[in-house]
Order: sequence, then C-alpha cells, then structure tokens
Amino acid sequence: MVCALRLERVVRRYGSHAAVDEIDLSVEKGEFLTLLGPSGCGKTTTLRLIGGMDRPDGGIIEIMGRRVDRLPSYKRDTATVFQSGALFPHLTVAENVAYGLKMRGVASGDIAPRVKRILDVVRMAGFSERYPAEMSGGQRQRVALARAMVVEPSILLFDEPMSALDLKLKLELRTEIRRLHDELGYTAVFVTHDQSEAMALSDRIAVMNKGKIEQIGSPIEIFEKPASEFVYTFVGESCSLQLSPILGASAMDANAPVGKLFIRPTSLGLVNGAGAENVVIARVTSVEYLGGTYRIHADTDRGSLFFDSPIAPAVGPDHMVKIGWKSADATYFPLP
Ligand code: ADP
Ligand code: MG
Repeated sequence: MVCALRLERVVRRYGSHAAVDEIDLSVEKGEFLTLLGPSGCGKTTTLRLIGGMDRPDGGIIEIMGRRVDRLPSYKRDTATVFQSGALFPHLTVAENVAYGLKMRGVASGDIAPRVKRILDVVRMAGFSERYPAEMSGGQRQRVALARAMVVEPSILLFDEPMSALDLKLKLELRTEIRRLHDELGYTAVFVTHDQSEAMALSDRIAVMNKGKIEQIGSPIEIFEKPASEFVYTFVGESCSLQLSPILGASAMDANAPVGKLFIRPTSLGLVNGAGAENVVIARVTSVEYLGGTYRIHADTDRGSLFFDSPIAPAVGPDHMVKIGWKSADATYFPLP
C-alpha cells in the first residue's frame, strides 16, 4: 500500500476559530476518499490546505511521502475541480484542457494527443473547438474534469463539483466520475455535503463536524456502525426517541438509561397487535405522497417518527397507531 496523502494534526485558524482542528488523515494511492459534512464544517478549508491554496497554522501535510505544507500550489502535483468549472471563457475546450499541460512544460507535440485522449474519456470529443459559453453546465463540468485529469496529478481534489447541476446531470456526472476513477485509477479527495453522493462514489468517507473528523470508514461502516449521534443523523435518514425513566415506559424498559434511541425509518412500520419487539403509541400528523411511496409522520410522547409505505396507508392525520421496530435495528447514544 502506498500512502498518497497524509495529514497529521493539521490546524487552520481564522482568528480564534479553528476551521480545521487537528485533523489526521491518510489516503492510499488509488483511493477515492470523500470529506462529508454540513456547510461550514471545514471541508473546503481542508481541501485548500492540501492543494496549497492556503497554508496551515500547524501540522504536517505529505503527498507521496514528500512534505508539502510549505510549498506553493504549483509544486504540489495536485489538480482541483471546483464547484463551477472555472474554465477560461476566452479559450476553447481544447485550449482549456491543454493549459495545465503547457504550464507544466509538457512537450508541445505531446499536448494535442493527450488532450484528445482525455476528451474522449469524458465523452466530450466533439466539443474541442467550443467556448465555455456555448455549452451546458454539465458539459462545462466534464471539461473541468478533463482539465484536471489530463495532467495526471498525484491527487485530484474535488470541491462539490456537482452542486450547481440539476439532479439528472448530477447523477450522470457522479456515475462518470466513478467510472473514470475505476478506469484511470486516480487518487481522489472529494468534498460534498450530499451523503448519497459520498456513498455512491467513495471507497472511504471521512465525516466532518466543526473542523474535526468524527469518523472515517467505508460507506457501509459509516451507515451501519455510526460512531456518534452526529454521524448517525447526518448520514442517512433517521428518527430518534428520548429515553428517560421519568417519561414512564410505554414501550421501553423503565430502567433504560437517559439518552436517545435512533432508528432508521426503513426499520419502522405499523403494527397490529403484538408481533414487534418494541412498540410505541403514536398520533399520525401527516401523510405525504412522495411519488411511488407514502411518508407517514407521527408524534409519540418521546419524539416524532416517520417512515415510508409503498401502498397508501389506511390511516390519516389524528389517527392513533402503533409503530414497531426490532431491537437490533435501533442504536442508543447516551445524552452528552
Ligand atoms: P465548508 O467547505 O465545509 O462549508 P469551509 O471550509 O469553507 O466550510 O469553512 C469552515 C469555517 O471557516 C466556516 O466557519 C467559515 O466561516 C470559516 N472560514 C472559511 N474561510 C474563511 C476566511 N477566509 N475567513 C474567515 N473565516 C473563514
Ligand atoms: Mg465548501
């Protein structure tokens, strides 16, 4: 295993606020790692520190075993794809893609074939003479991908490259980025606040919160074995019930510790009579049609729940229902 990127206790402060707060991270060569977290948690700052657009206040950054945190951006062998392609408007597609190769001093005879090859790879071969203004947002992002990939950097950095696209294009480009990764084997650090994007793309996900990494693991580990309440609620839909002996015990053990019980909506369902390990009485507050499924929201004395039903439920607002789940499907976190 070759370590392509290593961060050790990396810190970046703005005034007294640590935007990146002692982050440790290792990314293997060829790995697709995603920094996932809410807006403001420090994803872009981390990416900028890796790419050299910003300097850390402390810690070590290594790329392919070489310390780079004091090197300027152009000496780091990274390339970045930004949220909105940031193509040069006055250059054609081919010229935009060739730009990085020229800057790196690639022999002029080698440039055209490399540009042609990468435009084939991103399926933009017919567009080489177009200008950015003559293309759709999705096409421009494909060119931005080609422009970053053509220089074959040690690490490709992506900062929410799909966030400006509509849903259909987003899904299309997501598939494309994963296909290109499998085909070309580049090392990627990808930033997003969209958990399904992170799940679909990544070998591993680092979930960030308030400048720190809360958990690093495969998408399955992150979803099925969340290390904290933050990870549980940020990744995937979830419901929670307050557990407190003071509330009395309609469904849970009266001696249950004080804390929260988390359950995925996919583990919840209406129950008739007995048959579920855990049952709460709930009042239906609304039923929404989501296209193909119905979402039922209900209140209990311990918190609100929701879950989906493939068929129109026989209940509506203000109906009293029983909602059940298996103990093995619930996760308990004590109150902090
Ligand atoms: P994310 O990309 O996860 O949304 P950022 O890395 O952009 O978050 O920002 C992390 C935190 O650092 C935020 O609280 C943001 O307000 C702050 N921050 C980012 N850039 C600057 C800056 N240039 N000056 C001051 N504060 C900044
Ligand atoms: Mg950002």
